[in-house]
Amino acid sequence: MNSYDVAIIGSGPGGYVAAIRCAQLGMKTAIIEKYSTLGGTCLNVGCIPSKALLDSSHHYEDAVKHFEEHGIDIPGEIKINLEKMISRKQAVVDQTTGGIDFLMKKNKIDVYVGIGSFKDATHISIVGEESTEIEAKHTIIATGSKPSTLPFIKLDKERIITSTEALKLKEIPKHLIVIGGGVIGLELGQVYKRLGAEVSVVEYMDRIVPTMDAGVSKELNKVLKKQKFKMNLSHKVKSVERKGDEVIVKADNKKGEEVTFTGDYCLVAVGRHAYTDGLNAEAAGVKLTDRGLVDVNEHLQTNVPNIYAIGDVIKGAMLAHKAEEEGTFVAETIAGQKPHIDYNLIPGVVYTWPEVAAVGKTEEQLKEAGVAYKVGQFPMRALGRSRASMDLDGFVKVLADKTTDEILGVHMVGARAADMIAEAVVAMEYRASAEDISRMSHAHPTFTEAIKEAALAATGDRALHI
Ligand code: FAD
Ligand code: NAD
Repeated sequence: MNSYDVAIIGSGPGGYVAAIRCAQLGMKTAIIEKYSTLGGTCLNVGCIPSKALLDSSHHYEDAVKHFEEHGIDIPGEIKINLEKMISRKQAVVDQTTGGIDFLMKKNKIDVYVGIGSFKDATHISIVGEESTEIEAKHTIIATGSKPSTLPFIKLDKERIITSTEALKLKEIPKHLIVIGGGVIGLELGQVYKRLGAEVSVVEYMDRIVPTMDAGVSKELNKVLKKQKFKMNLSHKVKSVERKGDEVIVKADNKKGEEVTFTGDYCLVAVGRHAYTDGLNAEAAGVKLTDRGLVDVNEHLQTNVPNIYAIGDVIKGAMLAHKAEEEGTFVAETIAGQKPHIDYNLIPGVVYTWPEVAAVGKTEEQLKEAGVAYKVGQFPMRALGRSRASMDLDGFVKVLADKTTDEILGVHMVGARAADMIAEAVVAMEYRASAEDISRMSHAHPTFTEAIKEAALAATGDRALHI
């Protein structure tokens, strides 16, 4: 039987990063993945394919709606080749997952394909085409998550679908009903909206992206409505039924009146849940929480000292970069180091256009905690860079401590917000004040000037360009 210092179950961004870091630290490492391609949800059916389709659909929309204004005339009709769009997406996925194979080889990590399940706290059986058993001094559970649904919904995966099917549709929906105005619903909703579908979002809460800053939710809602999304907030879905090629969704609105939506596809995007099926955690004595998450302490260690867990299968934001940080954290912990993760500084991004990005506390959180804060906000439309590219929607908002001026949160809606948020993360990691940012030179013309201007606004109404 092969023996390892560390075995990792699951090869998503949590698992594969943990494996690389363990190998870098000199540990004999194995990774177990039930699918034949590595990379988990993120690389196969999550982050990467959704961004590939967002990019393709964005190009199409630009060609149809904006090229003319730029003085670019395209003779003839601009057409979508959905099959090609989906196969380009798949090529991006294949190249990316292939990259993980390379990294495993480079770092001399043994890859096992099959379902990993505990026999006891130090033995894992792997059931796949070539079943085997391995021994591991330490194990890291990185089994990720799966889409959640509602108890009364029968996902047929043809017309009543999750994000996984939405990434490989064979036709553009005429009317896509999206249940859940969160990250997946809005990103994939926007892909098909751009390609010509009517998109109706049915959201239970009174705002979309409800965990983000309320000002951001409001702005994104306004912009998406301008893009002709049909937003139905405060709607409680009570039934989803398929009749032939139609899907009928019934919901109660705020007033308790029944509202019926009829479409040809329904994307159920109401969150994801931790995935531990087949893991046989009980054989190792590993405890799960009431919500089915693997229970861990501050060292990401389970109740069984040699078993750790990371990523979507434990508490916290379900984000690839959070899983990656935890992968590194656990590898270094096992190696006897004392790593640290500041969960307050894990940024969140929604890759709609305009993009949404945030780090730190929201206004709602600061109010609830009774923290005195000041706000500096600057609209994207006031930037020369925004006018040049005609990306006028959105704003940057800097929240700073009223007394010390330390930046407590940065929230933005706008072109390239996903990349811009890194500046806020660095600033907050070094506990910068709003004044620090306001005194740093930002290249002109760039979208990042909005961060400087919002910081100037926070330091006392000193924005220069409004
Ligand atoms: P996963 O990536 O879920 O990987 C877990 C792996 O474990 C899987 O490959 C699974 O097959 C394997 N596994 C499970 N059980 C076993 C077993 N018993 N034996 C062997 N293998 C097993 N996050 C972002 O940060 N940015 C984004 O842009 C983004 N976009 C997303 C878009 C979509 C459509 C979706 C669905 C998710 C997106 N996410 C995004 C979330 C991101 O994909 C997850 O947070 C991330 O993949 C979690 O990583 P993980 O390593 O914890 O688990
Ligand atoms: P989410 O938590 O972002 O959004 C789910 C939405 O569904 C919420 O707005 C919620 O209020 C709503 N909802 C819940 N129950 C409902 C009901 N009965 N009727 C109507 N609405 C209901 O979840 P998601 O969009 O499914 O994404 C799952 C996870 O994947 C998220 O945690 C997210 O972090 C991750 N993800 C991240 C990215 C990214 O980083 N860009 C992209 C996609 C997914």
